[in-house]
Amino acid sequence: MKLDAVVVGAGPNGLSAAITLARAGLRVQVIEAHDQVGGGLSSQALTLPGFTHDYGSAIHPLAAASPAFRQWPLHAFGLDWIHPGAPVAHPLAAALGGGIVLERNLDQMVALLGPDGATYRRLLGPLLRDWQGLLDDILRPLIHWPAHPFTLARFGLRGLPSAQMLAALFDTPQARALIAGMAAHTTLPLSTPGTGAMTLVLLLLAHAVGWPFPRGGAQALAQAMQSYLEYLGGEVITGVRVERREQLPPSRVVLVDSSPQVLLGLLGDQAPASYRAALERFRYGPGIQKFDYALSAPVPWENPQMLRAATVHVGGTFAEISASERHHGGPRPYVLAAQHTLFDPARAPQGHHTFWAYAHVSSASSADITAQVEAQLERFAPGFAGTVLARTQTTALTLQHFSPVFQGGDVNGGKGDLLGLLMRPTLSVTPYRTPVKGWYLCSSSTPPGGGIHGMAGYHAALTALRDEFGVQESV
Ligand SMILES: Cc1cc2nc3c(=O)[nH]c(=O)nc-3n(C[C@H](O)[C@H](O)[C@H](O)COP(=O)(O)OP(=O)(O)OC[C@H]3O[C@@H](n4cnc5c(N)ncnc54)[C@H](O)[C@@H]3O)c2cc1C
Repeated sequence: MKLDAVVVGAGPNGLSAAITLARAGLRVQVIEAHDQVGGGLSSQALTLPGFTHDYGSAIHPLAAASPAFRQWPLHAFGLDWIHPGAPVAHPLAAALGGGIVLERNLDQMVALLGPDGATYRRLLGPLLRDWQGLLDDILRPLIHWPAHPFTLARFGLRGLPSAQMLAALFDTPQARALIAGMAAHTTLPLSTPGTGAMTLVLLLLAHAVGWPFPRGGAQALAQAMQSYLEYLGGEVITGVRVERREQLPPSRVVLVDSSPQVLLGLLGDQAPASYRAALERFRYGPGIQKFDYALSAPVPWENPQMLRAATVHVGGTFAEISASERHHGGPRPYVLAAQHTLFDPARAPQGHHTFWAYAHVSSASSADITAQVEAQLERFAPGFAGTVLARTQTTALTLQHFSPVFQGGDVNGGKGDLLGLLMRPTLSVTPYRTPVKGWYLCSSSTPPGGGIHGMAGYHAALTALRDEFGVQESV
């Protein structure tokens, strides 16, 4: 029987698109280049036998809050969220109290921030009251009629300025460092307009849903999505890279979970020149260098409070993180780290631990910043080197080869500044639709951009359902 839809790529967005189509009763096939599904949502044995590492994403607040994932029965297909004791830890020098731990409970956090507590509550409290409505409005194309205009306006007023302006609302170095650690996820200089928005979203998620991760590895979420898709009748083919459209089986629609460049290659001369030119101008952000460690013991943080969270923002004060994000590759990089095995011990042999970390580098860089990253870790965890049993590093270019979505090592699949969010990949209320009938782009190079939430795939699938199958309502 002829397929209704083919999805090229089984990253979180491809799987999400396929599930959305299958839930509408369509016959769907997903074709993935790698031998397992997941793309940037996958786990591998990257160091020693018995250690499970997350190749891409490690911490999943966006997934836990995703309006799409939340309506699907992924728990019935093996997903089990682990919530560490606190969402995020941020070490600082002993003179600054040794750092700050972001508490999930808002009242506790307000109390912890002391003189900055009232400002923090004014910023987050009103957004938290309607966080689901706000996320519905944020995790979609920027140009749309908002369903929750007041909450969105309040968010926009606070978030549109830069993280630097947001940090200026606070007096204590701890609160300002916390803001920097959040904002640096954007990979943009902290003075860039709009970096306040990502900062607020990440803080909001910490209080609303926490910063959890799937038991057993990120792969468990991808696996649950594949199993749910198959339960709905969808089919997944792995180990096949689609390079020409002639490779695809006949179907009414094709959704591409890949880069705009790969989409253009598949469309060939069917793509109008103006669309081709627009996609060729698509901009990427900086890359990353990624590190996976097998450790003989937990990270020896100088401040043991840092062991309460799985996610650790290592980079010091606001000024230090701001400097590192202005010029990537400097001596004191901002290091985003995760220590899963403190809360999910089965990922390593008994008593041993995994450690996941990355730092920003320039796009497509082949520079090796291992020494700078490890010096930064030693600064806050003296003796770290002594716990290392094995280390694997992944360069920006290796990431690009792993998935075309991570062009130049950009984990967000495209630059995350305001222009990059508007032109993703083109300025449109339906940026998923291409000018070629039946063809859609559904990767993180479409709104809402990077992160594990599946919302690009979900909205792309809804667009295809409306265009080609007359399905109007959400599924
Ligand atoms: C090191 C790293 C750390 C990250 N950390 C986090 C984190 O902690 N939390 C978070 O929320 N996000 C994180 N991210 C971001 C997140 O992983 C991405 O935003 C997300 O994976 C993008 O999903 P996607 O489906 O758009 O693309 P991808 O995940 O890249 O999936 C695309 C899939 O399509 C396949 N494909 C592409 N082209 C073809 C083709 N022609 N034929 C067949 N198959 C094809 C690829 O092989 C791949 O499997 C991280 C990313 C990286 C790389």
